[in-house]
Amino acid sequence: MTATVTGTEGAPGTGAVDPSAEVARLRATFAGGRTRDRSWRVVQLRGLERMLVERESEFAEALASDLGRPAVDAWLADLAPTTAESVYARKHLARWMKPRRVGLPLSVQPGRARYEYEPLGVVLVIGPWNYPAYLTLSPLVAAFAAGNCAVVKPSEYAPAIAELLVQLLPQYLDPDAVSVVTGGPEETQALLAQGLDHVFFTGSPEVGAKVMAAAAPHLTPVTLELGGKSPVIVAADADVEVAARRIAWTKLMNSGQTCVAPDYLLVDAAVRDRLVAAVAEATRKFRGGATGGLRVVDSRQATRLAGLLTDCGGTVAAGGTFDPEARTGEPTIVVDPDPGSRLMREEIFGPILPVVTVENLEAAIAHVNSGPKPLAAYVFSRSKETVARVTREVPAGATVVNHLMFHVLVPQLPFGGVGRSGMGAYHGWFGFETFSHRRSVLTKPTRPDPGFIYPPYTAATEKLLRRFF
Ligand code: NAD
Repeated sequence: MTATVTGTEGAPGTGAVDPSAEVARLRATFAGGRTRDRSWRVVQLRGLERMLVERESEFAEALASDLGRPAVDAWLADLAPTTAESVYARKHLARWMKPRRVGLPLSVQPGRARYEYEPLGVVLVIGPWNYPAYLTLSPLVAAFAAGNCAVVKPSEYAPAIAELLVQLLPQYLDPDAVSVVTGGPEETQALLAQGLDHVFFTGSPEVGAKVMAAAAPHLTPVTLELGGKSPVIVAADADVEVAARRIAWTKLMNSGQTCVAPDYLLVDAAVRDRLVAAVAEATRKFRGGATGGLRVVDSRQATRLAGLLTDCGGTVAAGGTFDPEARTGEPTIVVDPDPGSRLMREEIFGPILPVVTVENLEAAIAHVNSGPKPLAAYVFSRSKETVARVTREVPAGATVVNHLMFHVLVPQLPFGGVGRSGMGAYHGWFGFETFSHRRSVLTKPTRPDPGFIYPPYTAATEKLLRRFF
């Protein structure tokens, strides 16, 4: 059983779900104990993988409807990484679930101690609209791998995917362990008010703060996967052609609506013009002759992006046209915008690429560090020294050298932000750990039961205690 309310583009759903009944249903399943078994978890992960294969075309259609994505992008950016995450978790689950034996200090001997990972209970996954399948389903992989029941709350701004999840998840997963609740802020707040066992949120820092505030009265722990302005530092000794291709490709992906997309460039003055020309050229090439705007999610976002260009200063080196009615925006490059403009202060989350000229590496590092810690920091350079300095001196959720965004695809790496770009992490083992409690178990024999440990203490027993503790 799943619960749904209808959401139309740009309008949060309003509906008749009883969140407490939904959560009670999942709590009853969890209390029954079946989700703790490895075999149950493996069946769920296999079910999810099967769903992504058997229903690929329906996912592609929904992603085309919500975001205007071509089918190949739907597979590449939403379905393939979700499947990879599930397969990786399934293959490693036995090892992850094994209790860890630990040694005992002298003061606690004799005895045996271990810690083991146990599920948290009923968790809530709140998704964004930009990769609406991947960013709800890959946290769900981690939640199920760790043996939890889950409520999934997809974004109201990707209604076709939300509706598909409502239909499909109970068909492919244990229907008594999953619930898809659609809607907007109001429905999400109603879920948060249930006092769940964990909340996994992907979205903006502003909403992340509201989610954390709503979780606080219940002491519900939160993982916040947030956004921000991820910079790309291009040093004078960078391979400019390769940097340009990689920047153009990752910025074009999903029309720049990616949390780890390159937000803006900090380019050494010596290579600035060459890089700008090469990014513009690569963008033209990758669009295969297409002109005009790229689809952005909705007119609300197209209007916001157009607004960022109105008072940003600088020189528009490519593009510049946004059409809210058509929900499109041209890939746009703005050279040296006003540092105080909204374009340079807010996360762009669209196909606009500001290029800031810097005199040297110090200036680039100082620029990044004058703002909140980004989700990702990228550096293009041939110099080990430059790379080491950026890695050491620029705090960020992740650092990628001579490429962008690929760290997302490495399940062995924790994915998460720091400071304003988020708290907590997932992917692979880190997702399993996020959705688990590390429970300590200490077992003592009843004998021996030395008397000196019990009060009242004499000078002699105190001396003994001081030796042992
Ligand atoms: P958003 O914060 O507007 O919405 C995210 C979710 O929060 C939605 O499901 C929405 O219904 C819900 N929500 C909205 N208002 C709420 C409220 N008051 N209380 C409770 N829930 C509420 O984000 P978005 O526009 O969908 O996504 C864009 C943002 O997400 C960008 O900042 C982007 O960088 C970030 N993001 C981060 C990651 C990551 O992995 N770190 C991935 C994708 C997107």
